[in-house]
Amino acid sequence: MRRPILAANWKMHKTTGEAVAFAAAFVPMVVDAAGVDIAIAPPFTALDRLGRALAGSNVSLAAQNANPEQKGAFTGEIAPGMLADLGCRYAIVGHSERRSFYGESNALVANKAAALFAAGIVPIVCVGESLEEREAGRTHEVVGSQLDGSLAHVPVARAAELVVAYEPIWAIGTGRTATPEMAQEVHAFVRRRLRERFGAAGDSIRIQYGGSVKPDNVDDLMAEPDIDGALVGGASLDPAAFSRIVRFETK
Ligand code: PEP
Repeated sequence: MRRPILAANWKMHKTTGEAVAFAAAFVPMVVDAAGVDIAIAPPFTALDRLGRALAGSNVSLAAQNANPEQKGAFTGEIAPGMLADLGCRYAIVGHSERRSFYGESNALVANKAAALFAAGIVPIVCVGESLEEREAGRTHEVVGSQLDGSLAHVPVARAAELVVAYEPIWAIGTGRTATPEMAQEVHAFVRRRLRERFGAAGDSIRIQYGGSVKPDNVDDLMAEPDIDGALVGGASLDPAAFSRIVRFETK
């Protein structure tokens, strides 16, 4: 059984004070949420204070990005070891906003994922097609090549720890969610690809769905066999909404 993982991606939202206030409200709401992993990826500036506010709780700290180098002359960048130093358990890499706004390639994402593993942090590797690519019938081709390129340096021995997030670009921040059936169809394809690449470990890799996940659609999404969690943007900014997502119900 794969343990569901629900992760908040706050993007460029919340000051340190707002992050700490969120934790004060959210942690008691999920204190008895059993059998799931919960993580919050705040902006870098809030990692330290949020990490202190989450200490001893069942909510892990995550980063939204990392540099693939461990140190050096890279002005403005943050190394995986620095994130580990702050207590990050996960880091998101290859988010579509980074791929499209900052030109991040699969090769760069692969180096980031490898560097994170080396620093003891689990990468959450994002993949997903654009609307144009979906409408052209290219979803599997695009997602397949993102997976091949972005996971190129994941050691087979560590593969079972990996988290993959399938996030169709047309569903991110748009309020337009993939139906559970559409999402499951791509998740099943991702699972097949992971099995081809990593063998039996492919069955242990958790695949999150991301794209306008909300309290009112999470239950149906989580009922699908290959959807093992959610990566949540907008709805994760509100403690009550994110706690309801964490407490998804499947029949
Ligand atoms: C995301 O940023 O990863 C995301 C899925 O955002 P939203 O939930 O707002 O669509």
